[in-house]
Amino acid sequence: MIANTLTSASTKVLPLLGRSQSELTEWVVAQGQPSYRGKQLHDWLYNKGARSLEDITVFPKAWREEFAQNPTVEIGRSQIHLHKTTRDGTEKFLLKLADGEIVETVGIPTSKRLTVCVSTQVGCPMACDFCATGKGGFRRNLAKHEIIDQVLTVQEVMQQRVSHIVFMGMGEPLLNYENLVGAIAVINKDIGIGQRNITVSTVGIPNQIPRFAEEHLQVTLAVSLHAPTQEVRAQVIPSADRYPLIALMDDCREYVEITGRRISFEYTLLAGVNDSPEQAEELAYLIRGFQSHVNLIPYNTVSDADYKRPTERAIQAFVQVLEHYKVAVSVRRTRGLEADAACGQLRGQHEKALAK
Ligand code: SAH
Repeated sequence: MIANTLTSASTKVLPLLGRSQSELTEWVVAQGQPSYRGKQLHDWLYNKGARSLEDITVFPKAWREEFAQNPTVEIGRSQIHLHKTTRDGTEKFLLKLADGEIVETVGIPTSKRLTVCVSTQVGCPMACDFCATGKGGFRRNLAKHEIIDQVLTVQEVMQQRVSHIVFMGMGEPLLNYENLVGAIAVINKDIGIGQRNITVSTVGIPNQIPRFAEEHLQVTLAVSLHAPTQEVRAQVIPSADRYPLIALMDDCREYVEITGRRISFEYTLLAGVNDSPEQAEELAYLIRGFQSHVNLIPYNTVSDADYKRPTERAIQAFVQVLEHYKVAVSVRRTRGLEADAACGQLRGQHEKALAK
C-alpha cells in the first residue's frame, strides 16, 4: 500500500482527506456517481486507510483508471520516511509530505490506550531555548489533511485504534489555528476519537486562548508555563517578551470562565533554572484558586542546548511543595527516550545526518 502513494505538490490536485461524509458525497455526485459512493469513500479514507483512489476496490474499475490517468484529486496521505520502534513500545515516525518536507509523529501505547503525539507545523517559530524543534527553525504550517494523516498512519502501522491525541509534536498549534480546529473536527467526527481524549498544548499566543475557548470544545488545553515569573519565563521562551506572563494568566482565567474546563499547566523542569523549592512555592502562588493541573516534564536532553535534567530528589522536592499547597500535580515520565523522544529530536538528528 505504502509503495502506491501518489502525492503531488501541484495546487490543482486537491486532497480528499479532511472532508466530511457530506462533502465527499457532494464530490462523488459531482463526478456523476451515485451518492452512496460518498459513504464508501468516507469509510475507505478514515477506516480502511486507502492511500490512493486505485486502492478503493469497491469503486468501478473504469472510474478508478480514469483518475489514475488524470488526477484532479488525491487522497492526501504522506509517505512513511522513517519508522523506529523503541524498547518500551513507543513508535516514532518521520513522514514525508508532498513537497518533500519532513514531519515527526509518535505513537505511544499504554495498557489500553494508544496516544498519538501530533505535529501541527514543520519546525516551529517560537524558538524556545530548550526545545529541539525550536532550535531547528520554522518551515511552514501543516495543512489539515497532513495533520489528520499522522493519526491514520499510526493507527495503520500499529494496528490498533488510536484512543488519544496530544498536539505536542512539532510546532505551535495556535499559530495554525484554522487547520488545528478543522483537524480536531475530523479526528472527532470522522475518525471517532472523543474530544475529551484530545489535548492541545500551547506556549501561548496573544488573543488565541480566548478565541479557542469560544470554540466550546471538550478538549483539554495544556499551557506551557515553564516558569513561575516573567523574568525566568522570558529567559527560556523568547515570545514571553511580547506576551507577558500576567497577560497569559489573564487569558487562561478567561478560558476557564468561558469553557468551565480546567487547564493543564506544563512545566519543563530545568536544573538550576526553574526547579528550586522556592520556585515551586511561587508557582503554587501564581496558580492559586485556579481550576488547573500541573504536569511536570523533567527536561529531555537536547544535544546543543545548555540545560540539565534535575535529579530525582529535586523533582520530588518540587512535587512535595506543590502538594503541600494542594496543587494537583503529576510528573510526566518520558517514554522512548532511547529513540530521541524529546520533541523534534528525531527529525533534528535526521537533518544533521543528511547534512554530513
Ligand atoms: N508548541 C507547543 C507544543 C510543544 S511540545 C507548546 O509549546 O506547548 C509539548 C511540551 O514539551 C511543551 O510544553 C514543550 O515546552 C515541552 N518540551 C519541548 N522540548 C522539551 C524538552 N527537551 N524537554 C522537556 N520538555 C520539552
